[in-house]
Amino acid sequence: MNAEIPAPATGKTRSFGNSRPDLSNATVREDLAMTGRCALVHLPTGRTCLLPLRHQGPCEFHGPQEAESVAGASS
Ligand SMILES: [Zn+2]
Repeated sequence: MNAEIPAPATGKTRSFGNSRPDLSNATVREDLAMTGRCALVHLPTGRTCLLPLRHQGPCEFHGPQEAESVAGASS
């Protein structure tokens, strides 16, 4: 009975492709998000958080090479 995440009761329609309603105001790399990572992108630097989804504490941002290795390692 808990298969779907309920949309916030704001009356707004969720946009397709946004599977992270908690991060709707942030940029997330979807390829990394699908691997179970936080995947939040720090826009000023373009670096990506590679910690697990819903990790505790602040994000740890890593460079694109590390992000690519994580994204490619899961497939
Ligand atoms: Zn993070």
